[in-house]
Amino acid sequence: MAERSRSVSWQEWSGDRPQPRWPTDVGTWSRRLVERAAPAEPPVLRLGGVRLPSLGRARLYVCGITPYDTTHVGHAATFAWADLAARVLGLGGIDVEVCRNITDVDDDLLAQARARSVSWRALAAEQTYRFERDMSELGVVQPTYEPRSFDHVEDVIRLAVELLAAGAAYERHGNVYFRGGAVHARVGLERAEALELARARGGEPDDPDKDDPLDAVLWRHAVDDEPAWSSPWGPGRPGWHAECTAMAVATFGASVDVHAGGAELAFPHHAYQAAQAEAFTRVTPFSRARLHVGSVMFGGHKMAKSAGNLVFVDDLLERFGAGPLRLLLLCRRWHEEWEFSEAELDRSAGRLDELAAASRRPTRTASAAAEVVRALVDDLDVPKALEVAGEAGGEPLAELMGFLGLTQPIA
Ligand code: ZN
Repeated sequence: MAERSRSVSWQEWSGDRPQPRWPTDVGTWSRRLVERAAPAEPPVLRLGGVRLPSLGRARLYVCGITPYDTTHVGHAATFAWADLAARVLGLGGIDVEVCRNITDVDDDLLAQARARSVSWRALAAEQTYRFERDMSELGVVQPTYEPRSFDHVEDVIRLAVELLAAGAAYERHGNVYFRGGAVHARVGLERAEALELARARGGEPDDPDKDDPLDAVLWRHAVDDEPAWSSPWGPGRPGWHAECTAMAVATFGASVDVHAGGAELAFPHHAYQAAQAEAFTRVTPFSRARLHVGSVMFGGHKMAKSAGNLVFVDDLLERFGAGPLRLLLLCRRWHEEWEFSEAELDRSAGRLDELAAASRRPTRTASAAAEVVRALVDDLDVPKALEVAGEAGGEPLAELMGFLGLTQPIA
């Protein structure tokens, strides 16, 4: 497995945010693509079977990282797709606002900081910097909002107070639990499957204080030397799903158009986030459509720290550049699970050269741009869009490549 090729100095991560390094002039490319396609009606994205007509603006919430070991190819896939969904929503001539949170108060972050004998705040700051630098070099458009859990602890307390008052939560020994016994039904899971997933993904179903093993922690009482904030239930810190609920509602209000994240977040994280938001705001549904990006596998297992098979994006960017990596991430359907390999990334670089050469030839098909836009809004069908534009060559292909962020970096 590749080791990280670049370290980050204190001066770097404690300074200004990284500057964009890969062109993301999405507005220009979108305009050119739509002008050439000249659709009779504004393009409307259909995502996972849901049409998303919007007036004025659309809001996309993508569940961001816990900053303790970033950025691997699985992260890159999630954020490249969420970014593409925002770009395609924007083809309809609306403003698209993206909120990508940072979960910087978290069990895994605290455990990592303890294991490395570093301050958890410093670890979070350094890893957040690495992540933002990698996203910038990968050509992911900077989100409109980037809330941090650390800044929303008071909002989680307000959320818990309201859910207690509504009878959707209860307090035990300084913990506050959200009543989650029915949440699995939202995503079509049987109770037994839900319990298994909750156990695997930090849901602590065996906590003896819970009325139902599927209840979720909204507020966790302070333990040992962990960071703690004062609350009506004593010192403690927020639960994971509650952090995202609070950040999403604080940023966008009662609902969002697209709720995005990695496939493994569909349950329990996003299902609980949505259920808590709905119980708090009484607005249903929390999201109109969901974008749960297919997992990236490596060596036959999902790429994850726990599996010990992480491939880091900064290493790949240095060796292959952003274009081939973007093409590899996006030349498939967004919900597909797929296996990463360097050989595929190498082939992706060759394919990118061929596409660039074809884009410099005169175009063969005048109607290609219209078909390209139709493919993009049809559930983000990038393979179809690339096939159509690749056959046509010329301007429609050059514009699609610009829109997908596949063109060469600014010198
Ligand atoms: Zn989240």
